[in-house]
Parts: sequence; C-alpha cells; structure tokens
Amino acid sequence: MELTPGLSRLRRLGGSFGEADRDTFKAVLGGIMQFGAECLDPINARGDAQGCHLVDGRVQLPAGYTEAWASYTAQGWSTLEMPVEMNGQGLPLILAAQVQEIIDGRCAAFGMLPVLVRSAAKLVAAHAEPAIREVWLPRLCSGEWAATICISEADAGSDVPRLRTKAVRDVDGAWSITGEKMWISFGDHTLTPRIGHCLLARTEAGISLFLVPNVIDDDAGETRPNTISVRRIEEKMGLHGSPTCALGFDGAKGWLLGEDGQGLQNLFVMITNMRLSAGVQGVGIASAAFDVALDYAHERRQGGAISAPAVHIAEHADVQRMLLESASRVHTLRSVGHLVAVQADLAAHEVDPTERSRAQTLLQWLLPIFKTEGGRCGFDVSSTALQVLGGAGYTREWPVEQYLRDARIATIYEGTSGIQALDLLRRQIWRGKSAGLAIFLEQARMDLDLVAGDLRAGACACYELLQDAATRLNEMRDAPREAEAGAGSFLELAGLAATGWMATRLAGMTSDTPEGRRLSASGRYHLLALKDDAVAVHAAAVSGARRIDLFDSLKA
Ligand SMILES: Cc1cc2nc3c(=O)[nH]c(=O)nc-3n(C[C@H](O)[C@H](O)[C@H](O)COP(=O)(O)OP(=O)(O)OC[C@H]3O[C@@H](n4cnc5c(N)ncnc54)[C@H](O)[C@@H]3O)c2cc1C
Repeated sequence: MELTPGLSRLRRLGGSFGEADRDTFKAVLGGIMQFGAECLDPINARGDAQGCHLVDGRVQLPAGYTEAWASYTAQGWSTLEMPVEMNGQGLPLILAAQVQEIIDGRCAAFGMLPVLVRSAAKLVAAHAEPAIREVWLPRLCSGEWAATICISEADAGSDVPRLRTKAVRDVDGAWSITGEKMWISFGDHTLTPRIGHCLLARTEAGISLFLVPNVIDDDAGETRPNTISVRRIEEKMGLHGSPTCALGFDGAKGWLLGEDGQGLQNLFVMITNMRLSAGVQGVGIASAAFDVALDYAHERRQGGAISAPAVHIAEHADVQRMLLESASRVHTLRSVGHLVAVQADLAAHEVDPTERSRAQTLLQWLLPIFKTEGGRCGFDVSSTALQVLGGAGYTREWPVEQYLRDARIATIYEGTSGIQALDLLRRQIWRGKSAGLAIFLEQARMDLDLVAGDLRAGACACYELLQDAATRLNEMRDAPREAEAGAGSFLELAGLAATGWMATRLAGMTSDTPEGRRLSASGRYHLLALKDDAVAVHAAAVSGARRIDLFDSLKA
C-alpha cells in the first residue's frame, strides 16, 4: 500500500508521473539533501543575523544567497514539477512538496523564493496571453527570472476587496499601475535580472490581476527600470533572510493576466500553491526542530539516582511525551500535505471527469486545514523542542529559537487561521453543502480496518464528532455569529480528523525497519489520544457564541 491515498492512481496516469517510481524519489530527495547541506546550512543562521538591507534603492540579501540561488537553478530544482512541454521534469507535486520541506527545514527564509517563482509560473501558464507566456514562462520555470505575489495593502490585509491600487489601460494595450503594496516577500533583490510582480489592482471592471515587471523593454528594444520603488523593508520577528518590502507603484507598466475584473478568482492558481507551501513550510521547520530535540535528549544528562551518573533526559516520561507528541504532529501532518499535493495533481490531470471533480472537491476541503495545521505545527513543535532543550534552547547557540521565530508567520500569511476557518465554514459547509467533507469521510472510513481496538475506536469517534459538528454548524447558518464563534475549533477538529486518517495509514504500516517503526508509532500515538482530543474540540466548535458574548464586558 502507498502511504498517500491517490498516489498509485496518479502513477497510473502514465507519462512522467508513471516514471516517478521510488528510485526517482530517492534520487531526488538525496540530491536536495546534498544541496541543503552545501548551500543552505551555511546561510541559515548567518542570514538570520545579517538580515536584508536597502542600499541605493535596491534590496541587498544576506551573503551566500546569490551562490545558493545560482546552484538551485543550475541543478534544475526549479523545474521539478513543471510540465515537460515547458522544459520541466513533469514530476508529481508530492515530490516537489518533499523537496520544499527539506529546503524549508534547512533555511526557511531562502525557501520563500522558490515557492513564489514556482507558484507564479503556474499562474502565468494558466492565465497569461500567449505573447507574455512565451517570454515569462520558460524563464520562471528555469529560475532565470523571479516573481512576487502583491495582494496586501495597508488597509487590505484579510480584507482584500478593500485594496486601492489602481490600474488604468494605456493606449498600447498595457496598463498603468499606481498604489502601494505592503509586506511583499522578496519584493526586490538582485538575484535575477527581472522580477515579475503578480499584482491585484482595481479597474473599472473590478479587481484584476496584472504582471508588473520591475524592468521593462522600451520600443527601441532597450531595457529600463519600471516605475516601482522599494519604500521600506519591514523589521520583523523571524525570516530575516527574506526581505518583506513595501513597494510603491507610480504609474508602473503592467499586463493583464486573465479577464478584466476576475483577478481574485484567477489568482487562486497561485494562492492554492502558496497555501500548500505555507503548510509544508510549517512541517519542514517542525521536522528540523524535532531532529535537534531528539538528538539533544539522547546527549543531555540530568536526573536519576544521585548515587549514579545522571541519566539522559530522553529517559524521563515527560521528555518522551514531548518527543512523541512532536513526532506524531510532524509525521501525520506531513502525510496530510502529501495527500493535498496528490489531490492537486489529480484535480489537474485525472482523465476521468468524475474522479477529477472528486479530487478537486477533496482538495478544497483539505487545503485550509493543512495550511493552518501544518503552519501551526511549525511553531508548536519548535516551541516543544525549545522546552526539551531547556535553557540551551533559548540561546542562539542552538537553532531552535530561530525555528520558533521563523515558523510563526505561517499561520498569518496566505490567509490567517481565522480566515481559513471561515473559509471552511462558509465555503465548504454552507455554500459547498459539505461535499468535500462527505468525500473525506467516505475515503477515511475505508481505511479504518487498517487498525483495531482503541486505535480504530479513536478514529471512528473523531469522524462521527466531525460529522456531527458540521451538521450542527449548518443548522446555525441563520445565526452566523453562533457558528463563527466555533469556526476555529471546527477547523481544529477537521485537522484532527485529517491527521487521524493519515494516522490510521501510518499505524497500519507493517514494515519492520527503523523508519517503519517510527512512522507506525507516530500514527498510534495520535490515535490513542484522538477520541479525548476530538471530544474537547467538538464541544468548543458547537458551543455557540455564549462565551464570546462576554466580550462586551471588555469594553471600557
Ligand atoms: C513576513 C510576511 C510576509 C508576507 N508576504 C506577503 C506577500 O508576499 N504578498 C502579500 O500580498 N502579502 C504578504 N504578507 C501579508 C499577509 O498576507 C497579511 O499580513 C495577512 O493576509 C493578514 O493581513 P493583516 O496583517 O492585515 O491582518 P488583518 O487582516 O488585520 O487581521 C488581523 C486579525 O483579525 C482577524 N480578522 C480579520 N478579518 C477578519 C474577519 N473578516 N473575520 C474574522 N477575523 C478576521 C485575522 O484573522 C487576524 O487574526 C506578508 C506578511 C508578512 C508578515
């Protein structure tokens, strides 16, 4: 049995998916580990300490980024999941997600750039006019040029429809863009000769999507800078090696992507990939933090009988609990991420229309869950790892405090957890009539026989509680405040069920190797606590606004 549901089906689609066997995975993952050790390990802590600086109007990245990007592109990492007809390798997204996880575990700040470029390539492939596509797509696929996503503004964070950047059509068919975008990751740098800003702006038709390059070709064939300026680099908690820029667009020249007025809908090609990547980033950082904590626990000696040498802290039940909890979060959420990646590929490539539509529906259900829970896992597991290291973890001598700072953003950008929870409630339960949930439950229940006894009972109970919470939140549809008060807990419950499903598959593993035993134990650990965890979260999801109504008392 493949650990990831749908992967065998994807391989049966043939072509380059069919060729992506276990040996291919092994070779690719071995290669990226080597790239990580050579190019990313040296820049992670250094980039955190140096940060990014604005010098003569351009962003200067930390030392070593230029060489790392050059190696990344020269070794072909950017082409991994790009279609063969675009000079890509056509490998499955699940493999690209595993590669990204390893990059993020080594240097999450650097890892932001490949995600932006890969996601922009998908957007250009889907929505650019042929003339733009021909120029930009091969260069984005190869990593020769870079890209950003420009949505946020000072008064338009979660509330995207309030954005004020304006676009006016020029005589030559291009558009003139004016406004200020906030918090733009890798908004400027000199790693590549061009950066394409994938930008939302207001036109007479509504919110539209544009490609706004930082450098443009004039009529004489000369290149000149577009009228875009870096107004500021934000000082922030973590990800210091990733420049977060305020960008001014002063009549900058841009080109429409897709239909005028359909920008937000069209941008979802990019947003879907970015949300998957935010979850993967969380898991990548969590995994790195867990590895440090596990090694430390087998070296650090404290406690035990005073008459004997101190024991390794790994012998204490509380430390074992922390490490098991972390392993279980990492392995189950990593598996959910793989599931999401496979569904995304099936939704795009499956030939049977019914199966394609089912994959799309399941993807829509799982995406806000994985984005939120994967992101949360990065911070939580880093925090637990810091606890395992004690005082040492709080110092810069160890990488864990950086992991903690770097991971915190994953539940904020690409839509906060609150917004993901509302998406699940409004779009999936109310408007989508729980279609994604139904497919999820049907498939998850088919795997229940992989486990028995308490483990099976835990998963069964969790699925029933999720179904019940969805029914009750649907009944609260006419009282949105009642339902929205429980939306965050409902998403958490859906997360327990998604990891529960993957835990049944992990726990059911029979391979008697160290890796097999580790995965199986992680699954079983999750399932043993699942019923109790789900009962508590279910209660919070359906309790309505009674407790939230106390908020009025906070007013002066
Ligand atoms: C390091 C970093 C990198 C970033 N990179 C990019 C980038 O590359 N491109 C880009 O466009 N943006 C980027 N952002 C911006 C990011 O996407 C936004 O910060 C995020 O969408 C949240 O918007 P906000 O900060 O304005 O928070 P707000 O929207 O002000 O939200 C604050 C709080 O209120 C809650 N809230 C808001 N509205 C509602 C509602 N209707 N119902 C319930 N709760 C609500 C939120 O959940 C949150 O808890 C980046 C931000 C950072 C910090």
